[in-house]
Amino acid sequence: MVSYSPLFSSPSHWKQLILSKRSLIASVFLLFSFLGLSELLFERGLSSRILSSLTPTSSAVQPPLSCSNLFEPSSFQHSTPRPTYPRKANATFLTLARNSDLAGVVHSMKQVEGRFNRDRHYPWVFLNDEPFTEEFIRCTSAVTSAKTYYGQIPREQWVQPDFIDEERATKARKALSKIRGVFYADSVSYRNMCRFYSGFFYRQPLLQNFKYYWRVEPDINYRCEIEYDPFLYMEDNNKAYGFTISVPEQKETTPTLWDTSMEFFNQNPHYLHPNNAMRFASKDGGNTWTRCTYWTNFEIGDLDFFRGSEGYNKYFEHLETAGGFYYERWGDAPMHGIAISLLLDRDRIHHFDDIAYEHTGWEQCPDPSTPAYERGRCHCDYDNSMAVKWKRYSCQADFEAALAMPRINVE
Ligand code: GDP
Ligand code: MN
Repeated sequence: MVSYSPLFSSPSHWKQLILSKRSLIASVFLLFSFLGLSELLFERGLSSRILSSLTPTSSAVQPPLSCSNLFEPSSFQHSTPRPTYPRKANATFLTLARNSDLAGVVHSMKQVEGRFNRDRHYPWVFLNDEPFTEEFIRCTSAVTSAKTYYGQIPREQWVQPDFIDEERATKARKALSKIRGVFYADSVSYRNMCRFYSGFFYRQPLLQNFKYYWRVEPDINYRCEIEYDPFLYMEDNNKAYGFTISVPEQKETTPTLWDTSMEFFNQNPHYLHPNNAMRFASKDGGNTWTRCTYWTNFEIGDLDFFRGSEGYNKYFEHLETAGGFYYERWGDAPMHGIAISLLLDRDRIHHFDDIAYEHTGWEQCPDPSTPAYERGRCHCDYDNSMAVKWKRYSCQADFEAALAMPRINVE
């Protein structure tokens, strides 16, 4: 015996079933047409909205990072056991970058993390004149276990100010472009960057709670292990500014920078520190400029100095009013070089001679006959370093001469 369920027990029920099947198909068809139409009419139609609301937002479903091959700690040969540290400084890495600099930034981060920061977990602050892309944020935060912060620079601290005579600035850029060997001669954005690093980086809200910054540019290399904490070194030794390489600035980019600077310091001699490092910048007490600068793509500095020094900020204002960031191509390196050398006690300026640093082919590498080379298990080429191959471009002798000047007793 076949038993039927009550629903299928009579022909009228079959009819009902067929009718309801047809209406079901019709409604599904209508629904799909509606959803399809909505996809056509709206930027993100209903179906994709429904789908995305059903999809969990875990990283598993995000597209793969375009910066693949992220940080691989084992590619850096550390000694064991790792150094231990008594405490941490209030410090951050600082990287100004465009979204298009991403690959170079990731490269630099791997260097810093691998040689030093994977033990220390100092945060990173990224700044940009435009909003960072989601990709930039995801890639950079994936390279470090430390916190990362992303900030956009206010427009007025980035773009060429209105008081600059654009016609004069254009003429100046064109004239500079005609001279061979001057980088970024025609670039306005490079000038914006130089002005920003001269007078505005330390005013960014993301840096307000930090005391020290360590500047990191895209595409740099650290070729020795850094097995001590340079931030703590700064703190413990009351240093305000640290550098690795020092080089002279080109004449063509800064024809009036020294005279404009001396104008300021002659009018405001009280800002000059009695034990300054003037000898780094001038061999004749201020008459002429050595053109020596600390190469600012590496720098470790005390933000309290930049924020708190009236002399520094007034000096920047003086340069800003003169307009040379745009009428010439004043860089942040010559500006920092003059300011740091004249405003600070020279004992607060530190040459990190044991940090092996390379950018655009210029390199500091410790002498292999010194303990620093072995200690850092360096793999840099001393023969290619500023101390050997590029000695004619190094201002190290001027820095040492400045340190050797007799001290003046100040109460
Ligand atoms: P160079 O080292 O003097 O050749 O100059 P770079 O091109 O490396 O620039 C110095 C720093 O400023 C790097 O960290 C760049 O990423 C950054 N930078 C340069 N121009 C711009 C720009 O227009 N926008 C942003 N956001 N960063 C810039
Ligand atoms: Mn650079």
